[in-house]
Amino acid sequence: MEAPAGPRLFVAADLAEGAAVGLDRDQMNYLANVMRLKPGAAVLAFNGRDGEWLCSLEAAGRKDVALRATRQLRPQPAPGTVAYLFAPLKSARLDYMAQKAVEMGAAILQPVLTRRTQVSRLNLDRLRANAIEAAEQCGILGLPEVRPEARLDRALAALAAGTLLVFCDEDAPTGNPVDILRAAMAGRATAPPVAVVVGPEGGFDPEERRMLAARADVVRLSLGPRILRADTAAVAALAIVQSTLGDWG
Ligand code: SAH
Repeated sequence: MEAPAGPRLFVAADLAEGAAVGLDRDQMNYLANVMRLKPGAAVLAFNGRDGEWLCSLEAAGRKDVALRATRQLRPQPAPGTVAYLFAPLKSARLDYMAQKAVEMGAAILQPVLTRRTQVSRLNLDRLRANAIEAAEQCGILGLPEVRPEARLDRALAALAAGTLLVFCDEDAPTGNPVDILRAAMAGRATAPPVAVVVGPEGGFDPEERRMLAARADVVRLSLGPRILRADTAAVAALAIVQSTLGDWG
């Protein structure tokens, strides 16, 4: 049965048959005043734990609205494993990059502090809000894990054992990125988790490049002959990774 259309909302509440699902002020306003939905309207809800549920809009008091979960449309999938490590950018570009990384299937967003990172204080709540907005829009059911910013060496040390690190390096030899990634995976019995790392607008400094290149299971990947902005590099790199090693296959 084709899933009914309807707005998709990330909610905090547990989702089960007949469950009442409370909404925050912004969500109520969006459904009642922006989407102008009436009681009985279909709304899709997910919470990152219980899959996607078809819900029905209900009046809740004089002005408020709430949802009632009726049936599960999609089960909760296993969490993804692609990690995206990035030097934070200034706000608008960072908002864009966070949303694109989620749309491209990053399951972990790991801001890394590098020598030339332009941003010192990072608003993690804003990053999480961007991840939720992207998840609602692109139809995923798992919420990406947004990790607190960390020094590059600490972020690399926190990666799951055996992770293949795709080091996006504008100085890497150009070549077909698909062939390069496939070669990096050759001979492995099982596909390892993959992490992609993109540097700041000023690039990685020599010490950081040495650390990245010296890591076991690293593949230096050129994203073509032009210097990309970091947020462009995010989309380009994740597209190549997902189409070659990830969930586009
Ligand atoms: N050092 C660059 C600027 C860095 S671009 C310069 O010479 O001006 C920001 C980040 O995007 C880089 O650290 C790298 O991770 C990624 N990037 C940009 N263009 C790339 C390319 N052609 N190939 C691989 N990575 C690239």
